[in-house]
Amino acid sequence: MQSHDEIRVRGARVNNLRGIDVAIPKRQLTVFTGVSGSGKSSLVFGTIAAESQRLINETYPAFVQSLMASPARPDVDALENLSAAIVVDQERMGANARSTVGTATDVNNLMRLLWSRLGTPEVGPSYHFSFNTPQGMCPGCEGTGRVSAIDESLIVDTDLSLSEGAITAPNFGVGTWYWKGYAEHPDLDPDLPLRDFSADQWRTFMYQEPTKIHVSGINMTYEGLIPRIRRMFLAPDKEPGQKHIKEFAERIATFRECPECGGTRLNEPARTAQIDGVTLPEALGWQITDLRAWAERLRDSATSVDVAPVIASLVDLLGSLAEVGLGYLSLDRESGTLSGGEAQRVKMVRHLGSALSDVTYVFDEPTVGLHPHDIDRMVDLLQRLRDKGNTVLVVEHKPQVIERADHIVDIGPGAGAQGGRVMFTGDVDGLRASGTITGDHLSTRHVRRTPLRTPTGALEIRGATTHNLRGVDVDIPLGVLTVITGVAGSGKSSLIHGSIADGSMSGAGTLRVVDQSPIRGSIRSNPATYTGLLDPIRAAFAKANKVKPALFSANSAGACPNCKGLGIVYTDLGQLAGVSRTCEVCEGRRFTDEVLRYTLHGLNISEVLQLPVADAAQVFHAGNPGRILSRLLSVGLGYLRLGQPLSTLSGGERQRVKLAIQLGEGPGSYVLDEPTTGLHMADIEAMLVMLDTLVDEGNTVIVIEHSLPVMAHADHIIDVGPGAGHDGGLVVFEGTPAELAAADTLTGRHLAAYLA
Ligand code: ADP
Ligand code: ADP
Ligand code: ZN
Ligand code: ZN
Repeated sequence: MQSHDEIRVRGARVNNLRGIDVAIPKRQLTVFTGVSGSGKSSLVFGTIAAESQRLINETYPAFVQSLMASPARPDVDALENLSAAIVVDQERMGANARSTVGTATDVNNLMRLLWSRLGTPEVGPSYHFSFNTPQGMCPGCEGTGRVSAIDESLIVDTDLSLSEGAITAPNFGVGTWYWKGYAEHPDLDPDLPLRDFSADQWRTFMYQEPTKIHVSGINMTYEGLIPRIRRMFLAPDKEPGQKHIKEFAERIATFRECPECGGTRLNEPARTAQIDGVTLPEALGWQITDLRAWAERLRDSATSVDVAPVIASLVDLLGSLAEVGLGYLSLDRESGTLSGGEAQRVKMVRHLGSALSDVTYVFDEPTVGLHPHDIDRMVDLLQRLRDKGNTVLVVEHKPQVIERADHIVDIGPGAGAQGGRVMFTGDVDGLRASGTITGDHLSTRHVRRTPLRTPTGALEIRGATTHNLRGVDVDIPLGVLTVITGVAGSGKSSLIHGSIADGSMSGAGTLRVVDQSPIRGSIRSNPATYTGLLDPIRAAFAKANKVKPALFSANSAGACPNCKGLGIVYTDLGQLAGVSRTCEVCEGRRFTDEVLRYTLHGLNISEVLQLPVADAAQVFHAGNPGRILSRLLSVGLGYLRLGQPLSTLSGGERQRVKLAIQLGEGPGSYVLDEPTTGLHMADIEAMLVMLDTLVDEGNTVIVIEHSLPVMAHADHIIDVGPGAGHDGGLVVFEGTPAELAAADTLTGRHLAAYLA
């Protein structure tokens, strides 16, 4: 092979990588395998993609660079033949109400263009159909579709006067600049209790539209308290930084659908114009597969030449959305409500139609959330990207994907310090014969041998109608392992999470829902703080050294003042992704030299926070710390360092940390959403052992999963389908794995093939 036909990595040492060398063929589909924590992401994202993006940044003029995040060069001796890398990951998309599936994929641009050309009565230039422009947005809700009502009793105390602190909202304290605007307003008496204000004064105080007034010798804009608070705390694009501000905003406001536009976000002319009797908001609310069929009919009947290319592009883009398995979504679905897997597939759509070639695309487990039935199509898409002349790098665990790779890089053998080496490179036949953990698992099938457990009762779901569910009645057996299956969008999450939320589920007892959602304040949290492990360790440090426990906490005088005990410093860049660097004062050790002199079992507090869970379990084996650490071990997180920020964990790792703190808390029901995310086949075996232990201790375990080994391991399976969106929403099968394998459903056929 010519050297320019491969990306060469030499001496990569990011995170746990052991100075590895690896060559990756260009314009091929390469899959990176290995147990969870072995170093796949460190190689693919942390080294190759990071360096490619850094090199691109370097090509910008210096003044542009100074405005951009400039991450440090990854720890690697040499990287040759890189091409521009595009990372398609599972980061959830922003919770900004303005971002929808339609805006994120640019389909809405085409929709607007279509309605502006063909809609009757005519409205004019296409941006009038956009809820993101002043000309198109509903004035009632500024294009968000929702309005907030403010609970007045939470922002003012009418028994007090302004001088006595009648405004109780944060930032309006007596003497503050904001307070002065009201207290010094010529029409308002600062010493009169608010309840004694005249109707006019009350209106001025609470509701006045912005006007110029003269206060403390300067001109300022005066605005009633309600509009001001709305703008300060509740503006649609506002992402309040401080915790107390955010909590305040959540407390005072209740959101409901905008009465003016009925939630459609558009103003009157834009929302009522029709094509063949269909308005734009109606079409945006349709399932994508239906919209595509409608657009195809329009294409075949349209007479005007100038709209033909618009319709053709629309049909194409909607086709791509259906191809990545998102045909059940609607364009008006808010991006923030998508799962990580769905978000990644939405991002993928942007690239399928791209004319770029010779790009390196990097995917993080693109099959997350996909049924075996959808996985083959996903691999087709990855191959299509490759066939356009791109290099496609994929971190994946599923045999269905590994088997279709052109090239495989297997990292291992273990996790953390036990991993970080290249175990195998080559094709799938080579991998099978390689004797690596991955190779061995490819050819073995998980077959459950134990007899099925007997249920101790049933948890009942009655009349479930969340989202697409069609009044589902189903029993979930108690005291056993139940797996909920079905294609993406069939209604699995709606059945479980929706029924918990709206009360159509009963009999679950203590219910523990363990999901993959981000953990609040996770930059400051780490496994040690989050699991409660750090408190007893701090106490032990204090006792051993006869000092106060607080000295060892990140918000104390003992912490490094520069990084506040984080060891890293974050630069917040507003719109751009922030960057972090090691704190230059403590060099990442988090605490002052004085604190670092105190030791426990021969380690200082910084060294303790550097320990991987598995090593820490050797040091702290007794009491509470021992119990917490053994739970972290049992969920397969032995490689995590105690002080690693939770913000650096993947969704799957986050879920396992959450699971660890809920284990052993007494009998109850556990709900897990795709717990095999990020897990290698070998890790799945360990996860199943842990789930078995949970059930054998008297718990009920309900798992939403697509993984065939997990299905094969279940006592009971509930299959939701038959299709996605409005083609799903029914329970199509309930019974044992063997019965499912014999049943002629989509899931049944895949399970049968797996068990054969
Ligand atoms: P994989 O992708 O194979 O699951 P990773 O590359 O994510 O593995 O992790 C390899 C090792 O590096 C693990 O021990 C992990 O805890 C550690 N690691 C990953 N990201 C970070 C980080 N941001 N800071 C510190 N350690 C990390
Ligand atoms: P699954 O868990 O099987 O992938 P879901 O329960 O997530 O399926 O989705 C079932 C249907 O409900 C789909 O049509 C989906 O688009 C819709 N849906 C799910 N979540 C939401 C939401 N937050 N808002 C609107 N529709 C939703
Ligand atoms: Zn509105
Ligand atoms: Zn520091």
